[in-house]
Amino acid sequence: MSPCQSCGACCAAYRVSFSCHEVDDLPGGSVPEALVESVAPHLVCMRGTASAPVRCVALRGKVGEAVSCAIYEFRPSACREFAPLAAVGRGDEACNEARRRHGLSDLTVAAA
Ligand code: SF4
Ligand code: SF4
Repeated sequence: MSPCQSCGACCAAYRVSFSCHEVDDLPGGSVPEALVESVAPHLVCMRGTASAPVRCVALRGKVGEAVSCAIYEFRPSACREFAPLAAVGRGDEACNEARRRHGLSDLTVAAA
């Protein structure tokens, strides 16, 4: 099982922002428009991640125990590209910082 499935810390630690062109109200977009809010011209973020306490509206479950993403197939690039080796147990600084904020131990940091 991926460590991410019992973590979810990054979905409750950072502002998850990305281009408005990824939102499904534009051709080619996939992220549900109802789940995003505007940050700046052409920039949006997942609802729930713009202010403390941070928790993405699409996150299901309890951080550090069992979690899932309600829009996994349609999640933004910021999520797809975050700590890409964490799913196989190799984190990076941003991943481990998020984990620390939730009292979780570091994953092994991937070699550069
Ligand atoms: S990428 Fe890191 S912080 Fe995010 S869910 Fe996976 S293990 Fe947790
Ligand atoms: S869209 Fe999914 S993967 Fe991205 S922050 Fe929200 S819950 Fe996490």
